[in-house]
Amino acid sequence: MKKAETGMSRRNFLLGLGAAGGALAMGAAGCVPKASGGTEASQGQGGETTVATGTGVGRGGEIAVKVALDGTVITSVSVVKHNENLLISDEALSRIPAEIVRTQTTDVDAVSGATLTSFGLKSAVENALANAGLSRNDLTQVAEPAIPREEPIAADVAIVGGGLAGITAAVRLVEQGKTVALFEESGHLGGCAIAAYGWLLNVDTIMEAEEGTQDSPDQYVAHLEDVAALYGEKLEYPEIARAYAENNGPMVDWLDTELNVDFGARTGGPGIYDPEEVNRIYHFNNYARSAVRTLIDKLHEGVAQGQASVSLEARVTKLLSDESGVHGVEVTYADGTVSEYEFASVILCTGGFCHSQQLQQDFGIYENVGTCNPSTAEGHGIDIALEAGCQMVLADRSASYGGGVNPLGGELRYLANLSAGGQIWVDARGKRLIKEDGTRFSQKAWDDAEHNEMFVVFSEGTLPARPIVNYFSYLEGELSPWQSKAMLDELVEGGQWAFTGETPEELAGAAGIDPAAFAQTIADFNGYCNAGSDPEFGVEDLRKLEGKLYAIKTIPYLLMARGGLRVSPKAEALDESGNPIVGLFVAGEQIGLHQYGGMISNGAGLGGATTWGYIAANTVASL
Ligand SMILES: Cc1cc2nc3c(=O)[nH]c(=O)nc-3n(C[C@H](O)[C@H](O)[C@H](O)COP(=O)(O)OP(=O)(O)OC[C@H]3O[C@@H](n4cnc5c(N)ncnc54)[C@H](O)[C@@H]3O)c2cc1C
Repeated sequence: MKKAETGMSRRNFLLGLGAAGGALAMGAAGCVPKASGGTEASQGQGGETTVATGTGVGRGGEIAVKVALDGTVITSVSVVKHNENLLISDEALSRIPAEIVRTQTTDVDAVSGATLTSFGLKSAVENALANAGLSRNDLTQVAEPAIPREEPIAADVAIVGGGLAGITAAVRLVEQGKTVALFEESGHLGGCAIAAYGWLLNVDTIMEAEEGTQDSPDQYVAHLEDVAALYGEKLEYPEIARAYAENNGPMVDWLDTELNVDFGARTGGPGIYDPEEVNRIYHFNNYARSAVRTLIDKLHEGVAQGQASVSLEARVTKLLSDESGVHGVEVTYADGTVSEYEFASVILCTGGFCHSQQLQQDFGIYENVGTCNPSTAEGHGIDIALEAGCQMVLADRSASYGGGVNPLGGELRYLANLSAGGQIWVDARGKRLIKEDGTRFSQKAWDDAEHNEMFVVFSEGTLPARPIVNYFSYLEGELSPWQSKAMLDELVEGGQWAFTGETPEELAGAAGIDPAAFAQTIADFNGYCNAGSDPEFGVEDLRKLEGKLYAIKTIPYLLMARGGLRVSPKAEALDESGNPIVGLFVAGEQIGLHQYGGMISNGAGLGGATTWGYIAANTVASL
C-alpha cells in the first residue's frame, strides 16, 4: 500500500509515542498505564526515587503532578489532579507526561488542539522539579530513540478528517464489512462537534413517532422551500436537499437504535428558523459530546478488530489522482515525514472553513467577521479538493449570526445581549436597519451594516444586568467573570468595543457614528415610545433611550460554512462539469450547508455531518 516516504526536518517527539493511553486515540501502540486518580508515565529504571509534586494551570484550571526522580533522571510523571475537558485533553494528559519521561526534558511539543493543557502539564512538572531543588537543565539527557508513527492499515477506504462526519462514515463502513484508514490533522477526534450545542435535525424518525409528530421527507423539503422564500432565496440544489431529507431519518434511527446514542429526554422542539413549528429538532445528551464519545468508542472496536486505523496529527496534503480518478492520498505527519498510500475510495470530511479569516476574505464573505469555530475548521481540505478537480459552490455565502464582541481577538467568546430589549441597533451611518428583537431574521442586519458593524445602543435606564454574555464559555471549559455591567465598563475604558456619552452626539463622537443622523434616530425612536408604536420596524417593547447612553460595537460571526464542494445525491464529489470524480466522496460541512438547504434550519451542521457521513459510507459500501 505504501508507495513512498521521505524523511523531513521538523523534530517532533510527540508523534512517536502515538496516543498512549488516550481513549480518543485509537490504533496507537505503547499504552502508558493509568495511575489511580491520574495519568502516569514511567521510565522504569528502578532504584531510590525522590517524589516531588508541582502545579500548573491548564485549560480547566489547576493541574497537579507527582514527579518521581532517580537522582537527576525523571522516572515517572503522574497527573494527580486536573479539571480538563477529556474529549479535548485526553491526548495531552497521556502524551506529555510520557514524552517528558522519554526525552528527559520539559521542552516537548504541545499536542495540537490541547495547547493550554500541554503547557499546564509542562509547567507543573517544572514546578515539581523546582520543589525538588532542580531545574530542567539539571536532568540527565538520554539518547533519542527511533520514532514510530501511527501508520494506517491497508484499507478499502481512506477517510480524511476525524470530525463527526468522518467518524460517522468510518463506523458505518466498518459495520458493513469495509476496512477504513482515518487521517486526522489535529491531535484528537471530534472536530467542531466537541464545541457544538447538540441540536440535531430529525425527519420522520422513531423519536418523532414516539411523540406523535407527523413528518416526512416531502414535508421537510417543502419546509426548506418556504423558509428559503422568507429569506428571498430558493433551494438551489433541491435534489441534494431531498437526499439529505430522505437519509436523515434512517441515519438518526441507526444512531438511536443500533449505536444507542444518548438522546437524553428524547423530546423534539421547533427550530428557531421554523415558521411551521414542527418539533423536529432533538438534542443529544450533554451537548454533542456524548454522541462523539459513542461513535469514537464504536470506532475503537473496529480498530481493535483490525478493521480500522486512526492516524492523528496526520494531514492529508494531496489527493493522488490521474485521468481515471482519485486513487489515494499523500499524508504529511507532524514530524514532517510524507507518505503516499493507495485506496480504492477516499471520503473527504475535512469540515468547513469558518476559523480561517484568510479564506473568508478570499471568498469575499465579510469585511468584518468573527468565528466561534475551533482551530480545526481552517478549510484544510479545500485546496486539495480543488487541485483534484472538485467544484466549489456558494463559497461567498456563510451562515452568520449577529452581535459578536471580540475584545480578546482570536475565537469569539462574547455576544451583546441582543434579546434584552430596551435597545436599538444602528450602523456607522446612525440608521436603524431592522426590527431589534434578536430573533431569527435579525441577523441579516449585519449583512447590510456599513463595515458589517452594528452598534447596540442602550440607555442607563434600559441597560440589562448582563449587557454582554459569554456565549461560548464551554469552549474554554470555564465560565468567564465577564458577564455583567463590569465588563461593559472595562470595554468602555478600552475604547474599542464599547462607548458612552451623556448625549447622543457625545456617544456618536466616541463611537465613530454619524452624530447628526444618530441624534435624529434617537429622537425619532423616543417619539415612537411616546406614541406607543414603532412605524419603522414594529418593535413592541418600546422603552425610551434617555440620560447616559451606551453603544456596544458588534460584528457578525460564523458558525457553519454555507459554501462547499458540489456533490451528487450519493455524496460523490463532482467536477467542474458536474460529473462524478471516480473514487472521491464528500461528507459533512465540507459540502456546505446551503447545498442541502441546511443553513435555514436548525440542527443542520450535526445533521449534515452525520447524514452525509452515513450517505457516503452507504455509497462506498455498495461499490
Ligand atoms: C460553537 C458551535 C456550536 C454548534 N452547534 C451546533 C448545533 O447545535 N447543531 C448543529 O447542527 N450544528 C452545530 N454546530 C455545527 C456542527 O458542529 C458542525 O457543522 C459539524 O460538527 C461539522 O462536522 P464535520 O465532521 O463535517 O467537520 P469538522 O467538525 O470541522 O471536522 C473536520 C475535521 O477534519 C480535520 N481536517 C481538516 N483538514 C484535514 C486534512 N487535510 N487532513 C486531515 N484532517 C483534516 C479537522 O482537523 C477536523 O477535525 C456548531 C458549531 C460550533 C462551532
